[in-house]
Amino acid sequence: MHLSALRASRSTVPCRSRGVRVSEHPPYDPWEHARRLGIPVHVRRLRKSHGLWFPDYGEILLADHLKPWAQRCVLAHEVGHAVLGHRDDPPENEWAADRYAALNLISPAMLTSAVKRHGSDVPAIRKELRVTSRLLRAAYSPFAAPNLYHEKG
Ligand SMILES: [Zn+2]
Repeated sequence: MHLSALRASRSTVPCRSRGVRVSEHPPYDPWEHARRLGIPVHVRRLRKSHGLWFPDYGEILLADHLKPWAQRCVLAHEVGHAVLGHRDDPPENEWAADRYAALNLISPAMLTSAVKRHGSDVPAIRKELRVTSRLLRAAYSPFAAPNLYHEKG
């Protein structure tokens, strides 16, 4: 991982305010977010996926085999599909949902301080931030602006 890659994350997430230390800020809770959006979330036995967003029913299913931290990541991703109005799952939608989840779950300050502590030890950074490697990649990727996909169409 290159530090220069970290500079890209500029967040559009509204709950983040300048000057507030990360530790004092309530962490993003995708369960609460789904509740506010009126989206029911059901935990079920899923054989082929970790999570599913059903646009026609406005519902999310989460796999029951996930640990709580992984469930949080998957739910943040599925909420991303819902908020971004996705109706199918081409790679660009998967990327946009990952990016959405990453920007909500991982603030630039959290990422910077984890990198300061752990350098290029990606597993240690993932462990501290409690995110999947996919979301970590999405959080520090310089290749997509946060609102790139919101403006599409
Ligand atoms: Zn997805």
